[in-house]
Amino acid sequence: MSTIYEVEHLHQPDGWLSPGYVEVGDDGIILSVSGTKPETKPVERLKGFGVPGLSNLHSHAFQRALAGRTEFVTTARAEDNLWTWRKEMYRMVDRLTPEDYEAIAALVYLEMLQFGMTAVCEFHYVHHLPGGEPHANAAEMSDRLVAAAAHTGLGLTLLPVLYAHGGIGKKLEATQRRFAHSVDDYLKLIETLRSRRVANPRLRVGVALHSLRAVTPDEARAALAGMKAIDPDARLHIHVSETTHEVAEVQAGLGARPVQWLLDNVGLSPDWCLVHATHLDASEIAGLAASGAVAGICPLTEATMGDGFFPLVEYDAAGGAWGIGTDSHYCTSTAEELRMLECGKRLELRRRNVIARPDSAHPEYEAHTGRVLFDTSLAGGEQASAQGGGALVAGRRADLVMLDPDSNPLLGHGPRTVLDAWILGGTQNPVRDVMVAGDWVIRDGHHPGAASIRDAYQRAMTRLVQ
Ligand SMILES: [Zn+2]
Repeated sequence: MSTIYEVEHLHQPDGWLSPGYVEVGDDGIILSVSGTKPETKPVERLKGFGVPGLSNLHSHAFQRALAGRTEFVTTARAEDNLWTWRKEMYRMVDRLTPEDYEAIAALVYLEMLQFGMTAVCEFHYVHHLPGGEPHANAAEMSDRLVAAAAHTGLGLTLLPVLYAHGGIGKKLEATQRRFAHSVDDYLKLIETLRSRRVANPRLRVGVALHSLRAVTPDEARAALAGMKAIDPDARLHIHVSETTHEVAEVQAGLGARPVQWLLDNVGLSPDWCLVHATHLDASEIAGLAASGAVAGICPLTEATMGDGFFPLVEYDAAGGAWGIGTDSHYCTSTAEELRMLECGKRLELRRRNVIARPDSAHPEYEAHTGRVLFDTSLAGGEQASAQGGGALVAGRRADLVMLDPDSNPLLGHGPRTVLDAWILGGTQNPVRDVMVAGDWVIRDGHHPGAASIRDAYQRAMTRLVQ
């Protein structure tokens, strides 16, 4: 059995089909895409613009509970930055229960769907009880994330984090004991989580090293080798070069800048996602781009932390792959993250249309900023998450997002400018329907679990913020 949809305008890797016919199998995989109406089967018509669901490549779901709670200074915290924010985050970590973790994640995952994301890479490091003792179920906190994703319908690439040190040559702080594993225990957790895939077909499991500050070179090599022995195709994520402080610490401790150290000592490949990669020198930009790894840019989180700005123009000119994450979830909107990236660069460089480049071989070709931003982050997100979506073509997972042509930003727009209008042209969210793996999880803006998810989140916040 299969279902055929007639989509008024269907996003394709090389343009649009208007209309496009998508046949989705019962297993949630796209069987065929065509511009010709099939004669034999009934068809459901979908008005508007059908685009692929985006994979969000970096999330710490629980940090959403901190959004809007640290936006002030005191004499004790007059110089506020990532490291002072981290103290506030740790105060929250000390109080987080498994129920809180699930409730917060469910709200964040619901919002991602509402903004057109159909999968997330969850960089998950709060594993144990406060103080560091394991839960009776060692995978308790991971299972809460799996439950939140299953409840909402979002695809989940779960990245349990190996976190063993509080800095190069430093022991963990008391709060950080909730994060800690030996490499052996870490690989056991990976095996346990892979067993959860039987009941959760949208679950992928990868590996994450917190940073080069938090694992030694030997631990990094052992974890990567162990993971590759379990799953040769596993995705590998790491925080890197988010701040100049981190770059200086790694340079002093390991003898090279962080990205250069990774290039020289573990080797980078398209399996890798380097989260942030904000502070790169010219050699690192060239090396990272040539490696095929994805740079995981988190524009609004990096902005709210005052980290610095990713060298987008130089990296893109070198052919580097990138995608976007919403990280600490000051924002969960695809459009706002991409707008921040493009418009931040416009402010810095004092010119318009930064990411799009004309094609001198085809003078009539229009390079549209919205289309380039969307398509590049779509490919980078799929590469980093390995969810199996990323394009509305045969063989890919049927992750279809319908944009409403009657929403304010899209009024009067056609396929030529619709992605510019969504990402750069308005504030109202045009996402109307969201399909993940062939299942409609949002229809006409409605998710069946939305009210209960919101209530559970509110209860968690009441407990946490006292
Ligand atoms: Zn992060």
